[in-house]
Amino acid sequence: MEPDKVKMKLSELRRTFETGKTSDYSWRRTQLLALQRFLIEREGDIADAVRRDFGKSPAETFLTETAFVRGEIRHSLRLLRKWMKPERVPLPLHYQFGTARIESRPFGVALIIGAWNYPLNITLSPMVGALAAGNCIVLKPSEHAPNTSRIVAAGIAAYLDESAVAVFQGGAEETKALLRERFDCIFYTGSRPAGREIMLAASGSLTPLILELGGKSPCIVEKNACLRKAARRIIWAKFLNAGQTCIAPDYLLVEHGAADELLQHMKEAIGKFYGSDPEKSPDYSRIVSERHFDRLEKLMFAGEIVAGGIRNRNGLYIAPTIIRGVTLDDPVMKEEVFGPILPVMTYGTIDDALALVKRNPDPLALYLFTSDNTAPGKVLGAIRSGGFCINDLLFQSAIHALPFGGTGESGFGRYHGKAGFDAFSYRRSILHRTNFPDPDLRYPPYSRVRFGMLRRIVELFDQ
Ligand code: NAD
Repeated sequence: MEPDKVKMKLSELRRTFETGKTSDYSWRRTQLLALQRFLIEREGDIADAVRRDFGKSPAETFLTETAFVRGEIRHSLRLLRKWMKPERVPLPLHYQFGTARIESRPFGVALIIGAWNYPLNITLSPMVGALAAGNCIVLKPSEHAPNTSRIVAAGIAAYLDESAVAVFQGGAEETKALLRERFDCIFYTGSRPAGREIMLAASGSLTPLILELGGKSPCIVEKNACLRKAARRIIWAKFLNAGQTCIAPDYLLVEHGAADELLQHMKEAIGKFYGSDPEKSPDYSRIVSERHFDRLEKLMFAGEIVAGGIRNRNGLYIAPTIIRGVTLDDPVMKEEVFGPILPVMTYGTIDDALALVKRNPDPLALYLFTSDNTAPGKVLGAIRSGGFCINDLLFQSAIHALPFGGTGESGFGRYHGKAGFDAFSYRRSILHRTNFPDPDLRYPPYSRVRFGMLRRIVELFDQ
């Protein structure tokens, strides 16, 4: 990435923004439609690129990447006029006459930095929000999904307005170079350590920032839950993308007395979904890199492996693995797993389970399987989390009208649907006053009488 080229491109984007064309409804709509066309016309090539990056199946790529982004686009196109509409605010009597409104305005030039694990979804979903909000955009896809990064760069150059949207490819060094430039907002998805560096860079220029980070998302299973359904759903959510999902259940807390039955159902579900040898399954992804493979391999040395455990470094394959009998001191219970290893612990009372969860920073997602109507309220009251899903997993992030994001160390800010539009907009308060009335009462000198009258008016109407 040549610094001069970056500077030149950024100046071009800024000039484009200053013409005001990206603020127009028609430009926003045209760009969203163009992005939709790219996803439809190049669906096969995109699926192929993602498969080459980490062996993800075309069905998974469709469900979790292209179809999701296309859904975001459709949702935004349907509601964009409404979102853009200024919000009228009634004026209190003593501030009459005039009109007041709030307008959502684009920030300007937005920087979107993506992670690799859903390489399309994580870069293009925020982009839908940024386009809908009328921004120029610089996209920096992850270097760890190079094939997808290339196809996104080529697709955006071919389909979207090149004077307003640019893609820079590369890794941490290239991202740092970009961060030395001025942006009007930054949207980052990735790990906490890099997130801290991004925040430091943003603080220098006081640039608005959204951080979409990860963490250990717990899944609590009560004895009274439908264990067979819970098992199928947990296995699907955990081993989708070979566990490389920011909101995958990171660890299971199962109520005493339910573990044996749940584990039996989970083992059956693995066999049903991926066959007796998941390495041969066309639906089971690979680990993205040797570095992550080595990291994950070390996490397996804990407790008792009750499913999986088989691995093949050459093929970057780790079987769907369940480990029971882990302790809080095992590394697998200390860091985010972000791979196909599911540690399982048991608990006595729900308070014990909540105490275990509270030992970690606020998670991005929190899951509870129960048939007790009072349990969700108790868990909600005790634990903060970005999202909460009862009796299922992941789908809280699939609904366009549900804002998605973390809390505490799992990040801040929200996107998807209207939340994505809001993430890339600032809200401007606008007051338009008439010339009349213009009573002397408001102006000094504030005699005792005048001040008394002012006080009465303010106290009467200012509520
Ligand atoms: P990563 O932090 O390694 O990389 C993310 C992006 O940051 C990449 O584009 C990379 O080039 C850039 N980057 C890396 N180091 C940098 C640095 N020092 N300075 C500037 N930029 C840098 O993250 P990853 O491994 O791609 O993603 C895994 C993490 O992301 C997991 O923790 C996961 O939970 C989290 N995640 C969160 C979400 C979410 O929506 N909240 C989604 C996906 C992944």
